[in-house]
Amino acid sequence: MPSWDDRARPPRPQAAADQSRPLPGELQARALVEQLPAILYVADAGVEGQWHYVSPGVWDVLGFTPEEWMAEPESWARQVHPDDRQRVFGREVQLAAPAAPDEYRMCHRDGSTVWVRDEAALVTDAAGNERWHGVILDITDRRLAEAELERRAEQQAAVARLGERALEGDEVSELIHTALSEATSMLGMDSGAVLQCGDEEALLLVAGSVLREADGEGERDATAAAGQRGGARGFRSSDLDYGQSWPIEGLRGRWGLLWLPAADCPLGPADSDFVQALANTLADAIARRAAEDDIRHQALHDPLTGLPNRVLLLDRLAHALARGSGDVVVVLLDIDNFKLVNDSLGHEAGDELLSQIAPRLVNAMRPGDTIARLGGDEFVVLIEGLADPAGVSMIAERIISALELPFRLAAGEHYAKASLGIAIAGPGDVAPASLIRDADAAMYEAKGRGRGRFEVFNRAMRTRSVERLSVENDLRRALEHAELFLVYQPIVSLGDLSLVSAEALVRWQHPTRGLVGPSEFISVAEESGLIEPIGGWVLNAACAQASLWHDAHPDSRPIGICVNMSARQLIRADLESTVVHALELTGIEPSSLTIEITESLLLQEPQRVLDTITRVARLGVHFVLDDFGTGYSSLAYLARLPIAGLKVDRSFVAALGGDPRSSAITTAIVGMAHALAVEVTAEGIETDEQLAAVRDLGCGLGQGFLLSPPLPAEQMARLLDEPVLDLATEPQGSQRADAAPSA
Ligand code: C2E
Ligand code: MG
Ligand code: MG
Repeated sequence: MPSWDDRARPPRPQAAADQSRPLPGELQARALVEQLPAILYVADAGVEGQWHYVSPGVWDVLGFTPEEWMAEPESWARQVHPDDRQRVFGREVQLAAPAAPDEYRMCHRDGSTVWVRDEAALVTDAAGNERWHGVILDITDRRLAEAELERRAEQQAAVARLGERALEGDEVSELIHTALSEATSMLGMDSGAVLQCGDEEALLLVAGSVLREADGEGERDATAAAGQRGGARGFRSSDLDYGQSWPIEGLRGRWGLLWLPAADCPLGPADSDFVQALANTLADAIARRAAEDDIRHQALHDPLTGLPNRVLLLDRLAHALARGSGDVVVVLLDIDNFKLVNDSLGHEAGDELLSQIAPRLVNAMRPGDTIARLGGDEFVVLIEGLADPAGVSMIAERIISALELPFRLAAGEHYAKASLGIAIAGPGDVAPASLIRDADAAMYEAKGRGRGRFEVFNRAMRTRSVERLSVENDLRRALEHAELFLVYQPIVSLGDLSLVSAEALVRWQHPTRGLVGPSEFISVAEESGLIEPIGGWVLNAACAQASLWHDAHPDSRPIGICVNMSARQLIRADLESTVVHALELTGIEPSSLTIEITESLLLQEPQRVLDTITRVARLGVHFVLDDFGTGYSSLAYLARLPIAGLKVDRSFVAALGGDPRSSAITTAIVGMAHALAVEVTAEGIETDEQLAAVRDLGCGLGQGFLLSPPLPAEQMARLLDEPVLDLATEPQGSQRADAAPSA
């Protein structure tokens, strides 16, 4: 709004004016002057000069009658606003005629402030007296409007400043303080607060200068330390009644409120808009900061479990090693048989399991420890400043037992175990990656030694882990280079030592390492997934061999063929078609084929796997449980599976006649098998005493070095001509099969 005195005003035309506008009569002129809502005056020069005339407008502008005003020479001086007196009086003294207009504040009789424009000219009359002829106009409205505009501009600048600081990346807490101090100083308040919406609709003070608090005697102000963090102080919703609040909206619903205490009169819409603009700027900054935090968090955390990822782990590990303060321990944890969960229950179940494992690990550790997910089913726990290195095993036990209780997956209850490898940084160790590699090597050892346990790294493990890696590389080529072959171990009826079947056992003729047994490569094949092609080859080769034997002896009872299968093969949905294909390809009867399964864990697997096994069993193929007694198999599992027999692990057979407890277990196993009406095979019979003992127990079938070691196919073929073993001649010992087949 331009002020009127800013307009260029042409100088007042002089000369002929008197003739063209005859002066009205005295009365008319007085009426004109006295109607004006302005103060027209004539007074002596000087701050407290004598008044000669004051128009009744003095009532409109300042609340005095002309008589009251003129009664005292100092009325004007008294009513000039104290803050403007010095300037206005000083100017009055120096003034030379004609005076320029001046704008200043005066006090109305009722105490309110009135802005006036005082325009006067010093006129010398005929008698030589110098008098002020002037007019005082009330310009309060214009001034207020101008001030209002100015305030708006200042407020806009304040919002812009806040926005700028937000862009510059100030901390949210600093921005909140800036917003509060802008709001309170701009609106002339001594307090204000930013409250964050907490859980259950509680409001938490984030920052504020003064808080009002109701107490027994009424209201009193309580000073809250600036910068107080959320949660430091609750704010009752009734507290909001003592003021006004403006929402700070967040990305996901309301973030909080900007609160100001009650003013004498409620804030007008423009001021309220100003506070809301501050609140909106805060909201933008908070939202942007939250988005940035999200991005940072995503870059450093695993989305599935919310745990730190490999990047963050390596960073923390590097810092821990660089600090060199005390022991740094890395525990690498790999979920046993996790691939089975993924393959049999689906990836959703695998994800579900992982996300339930994460909080158990977190709860098992101290708050300062880092629990990270490396990827897949691998987790790492980083522990710093462990006072006693012996504490490592306690921690490992704690982690193992944290996983003991079953996990509740959508597909049903699931038991999971983990193998742990532990690496402890020595004084010179500074490479995070090598520490993790060491823990990984130790973890593999733990897997190799039976899973569900932990091992602490030593140097020999590193050598073995390098070897394992080369085994895996070589194994990939083993199949195409035809380096694998099968040997066959006879299984006989213990009654008359007649040959019943042969177990196919895989061997690897390695080009440089020589003959390699399955214990050295089956676990690597299982971990790498190579077991699927290898197992498929074994099944076909064994069935083909059995078919050759059957063709050579068409008149005798066909010899059975036993094939070992890993859990990974069994959980495949296409197991049935694989088996059907092998049977069709080789033409052997389904009843000639026995599949040996060892993974007791498989028995806890869900219906789908049981269904697959049941379908294959319905073809006429037999299933037996291998290495029985070493796993967690129980009677309940056995009853659910279409099992034709079980093979008592050779450790129990070896203990027969010695340790009475093992004998008792063996007795119980055989008794149980009889109760379930399944065939029992005693594995690993090495001595006549053991043979006698398993016969006494009532085992129907037997297998072992005493009877025959695994044999190359052609030696096995010779046995078929004479299908009852003759132990007295003891020819088998010289026919050990652990050599390459004669080409
Ligand atoms: P397994 O199925 O329990 O096979 C019996 C193992 O015991 C064979 O070891 C056999 O040579 C050994 N053995 C037989 N009689 C005696 C004895 O009197 N005393 C002793 N100490 N040992 C005896 P091998 O051939 O080294 O196989 C080890 C394991 O590797 C097998 O145990 C089986 O679980 C696995 N395996 C072998 N071939 C395959 C295969 O083709 N596929 C799969 N998935 N696993 C296989
Ligand atoms: Mg077996
Ligand atoms: Mg076995």
